[in-house]
Amino acid sequence: MTTAGKKSFQHKHTSLVLILAVLACCLCSCRSVPVTGRSQFLLTTESYENSLGAESYEEYKQEYPKSTNAEYNAALERCGNAIKAVANEVGDTNDFEWEFTVLDSEIQNAFCLPGGKVAVYSGIMDYMDNEAELAFVVGHEIGHAIARHGGERMSRSILQSVGAVLVSAAFDSEVIDAIYGTGTEIGVMLPYSRSNESEADAIGLILMARAGYDPSASYTFWKRFTNNAEGSSKLEAILSTHPCDSDRIKAMQDNEAAARAEYNKAKTKYGFGKTFSHK
Ligand SMILES: [Zn+2]
Repeated sequence: MTTAGKKSFQHKHTSLVLILAVLACCLCSCRSVPVTGRSQFLLTTESYENSLGAESYEEYKQEYPKSTNAEYNAALERCGNAIKAVANEVGDTNDFEWEFTVLDSEIQNAFCLPGGKVAVYSGIMDYMDNEAELAFVVGHEIGHAIARHGGERMSRSILQSVGAVLVSAAFDSEVIDAIYGTGTEIGVMLPYSRSNESEADAIGLILMARAGYDPSASYTFWKRFTNNAEGSSKLEAILSTHPCDSDRIKAMQDNEAAARAEYNKAKTKYGFGKTFSHK
């Protein structure tokens, strides 16, 4: 590159950085995560995250048929509605358009996309003993959504892009561009970080307890799940997006007393709910 070309390149990139910085100042927001109170920094708006969530949800529903298992559908409707009601009390969910679907697939996973779009694969429900275990999984996934963990990951991607532009302007190296380029993927199904997992557990436990489900179902489910996961490739799906280890299970047990205090105050108590007939 000639000196003149390099100057023009750097000028162009400096302008882009300024535009991005102005955009960031206009769009960014600091908020407290519901339940845990952690401060978070976001560069994405809730309406943008929710529109991505809704779009992605339609794609999942086209890819997988709805389950015809009446027992699973009824359990998700019951516990979904109970958890939705308590999530609406603690989260900024005014713009959520809640939806709960059991997808017919052997995949062992579940998710709640931004905007309240919840899906549970029938494959993971086959591993649940009762409705309370489902309530914890649904509460955990809704925890990710009301904590806007998707928005946080996208914000990190945007910051990485800004970083890439700065690096390009400073060093003009295609290699560095390539390294940064790999980190800018925007998606809703990327693996969650360990801290996101712990936070979703903490929120999920409180939500299930307030919704009237026995909080001990949280760790009975995860213990069985992680024990079965050893040597089973079938269980890789949920563990690839929700890494779980003994620390996570211990935290669920440590937080049980606080969750039980919430459970004791719940107006309607389901206990462990319905036991699934496959058990
Ligand atoms: Zn998770």
